[in-house]
Amino acid sequence: MSKKLISFKIVKDFLENTAGEHALKFMNVQEKLGKKFNDEQVAEKMKLKVTQVRTILSRLHYRGISNYQKTRNKKTGWYSYTWEINRNRIVEILVEEQEEMLRNMKKRKNEVEGHSLFMCGEANCEALPFEVAAEYNFRCPSCGKVLEPVNSEKMRKEQDKQIKKIEKLIKDLKEAK
Ligand SMILES: [Zn+2]
Repeated sequence: MSKKLISFKIVKDFLENTAGEHALKFMNVQEKLGKKFNDEQVAEKMKLKVTQVRTILSRLHYRGISNYQKTRNKKTGWYSYTWEINRNRIVEILVEEQEEMLRNMKKRKNEVEGHSLFMCGEANCEALPFEVAAEYNFRCPSCGKVLEPVNSEKMRKEQDKQIKKIEKLIKDLKEAK
């Protein structure tokens, strides 16, 4: 069974980063209003100002997630906007990001394969092959700590675990479309 797109943590974070603190509530309210909706309806349901809803919509529009149709009322001459949310676009953006991470991770894995590596143990520092570590006199170039030999079997397992995790996330995201 596929999970609902909006229940993924990565989707929540992405929406909040893209469209602000009201983004999740917006998505839920909008979904209930149906495929096509207007900003005033959403604002009323969310108890927000129409301008706040328009800000959310335009930020989503910037990433290709929301689209609008403009129609002119012949009597009043005013324009009204009917909006639509393209959820597939959210999946597309996130899958692209994750696929890039996956490529980098696989590249890194290939780079370290067959080398004896040295590392300081800090999470943000890199493991270095013997030749490079020796150049730095076995001191981490980033933090200055002593570089120790890495258990490469353990490291490979850790990398495989992360690769599998990303692959699963990509699969789940695609299924949540
Ligand atoms: Zn370090």
